[in-house]
Amino acid sequence: MGMSLLISVLLLGGTLMLLSAVVPVGRLILQLPPGPVRTWWQALSILISFFVAGYVSYAILHWGVYEGFVDLIVPLIFFFGALFVLLVCNLSLNTANDIKRIFTLEYESTTDSLMGIYNRRFLEKRLHEEFFRSKRYDFPMSLLMVDIDRFKLVNDRFGHPVGDIVLKRLAELIVTTVRESDVVARYGGEELLLILPHTRGDNAHLLAERLRFAIENTVLVKKGESDLEEDLQVTVSIGVSTLAPELTSSQQLLKQADKALYQAKDQGRNRVVAAPNIFLPEKES
Ligand code: GH3
Ligand code: MG
Ligand code: MG
Repeated sequence: MGMSLLISVLLLGGTLMLLSAVVPVGRLILQLPPGPVRTWWQALSILISFFVAGYVSYAILHWGVYEGFVDLIVPLIFFFGALFVLLVCNLSLNTANDIKRIFTLEYESTTDSLMGIYNRRFLEKRLHEEFFRSKRYDFPMSLLMVDIDRFKLVNDRFGHPVGDIVLKRLAELIVTTVRESDVVARYGGEELLLILPHTRGDNAHLLAERLRFAIENTVLVKKGESDLEEDLQVTVSIGVSTLAPELTSSQQLLKQADKALYQAKDQGRNRVVAAPNIFLPEKES
């Protein structure tokens, strides 16, 4: 009698554990995008229901016919098997959540929340790495420093929230215009820095001119949006610098781009100025 009870407890416990393993599996399936991994987890949950049916059938078929300790072996294996399944399913869900958390933290610590591009902290690290990699392997590399023209006026006239929309849209426009391998980051308030790996100064200048032109010709906030009474456009000034043997730190490269940007502002804004070591064919500003 005692043996029957023990076996029933083991089988019932095993069945309940199997049933509760379906909960983490279901949560996991809900989080996964359609694809083979999700399909496999779905298949696994069906398999679990087969196991449940097996446990119940075993309990019914062997009800009251237990004779000795040997009859304990199978229910014990069933019990620990179910425990194993439950642990694996819960661990899988917790591991997936932990990985997601790590990715979120990493994203938040490297991204500017307003503009949705890399932040200054990430930028400095990446610039340093890219500078020395390019120097070591003798690859070209260039920088663009972009600053919105008279942005204070935009804020003054349309309000800070509209200014924020402009910053967000401008970042989107720039990201979609450059290559995927280019790094777009917020350098300061309304200043962006673009790291262009494997790009010579003259090509960087061309890209800067393309960006400047695209921005000049794009309405960033449309009339009617945010109670705006007219379409809102901005222009930018861009300073370009490029890697050269005499430059020994990424800070010097940055300084050159900053200097060129300052000149662009000085020469009337809405223009691109290249650092003196960039050779531009024929007519060049
Ligand atoms: P310039 O052509 O010389 O660049 O003129 P400017 O008015 O753009 O001058 P500056 O670059 O010095 O001005 C930066 C302005 O950008 C000041 C500040 O109000 C605005 N700004 C900085 N960060 C933000 C932000 O996160 N949101 C908004 N809306 N405005 C910002
Ligand atoms: Mg500005
Ligand atoms: Mg500025």
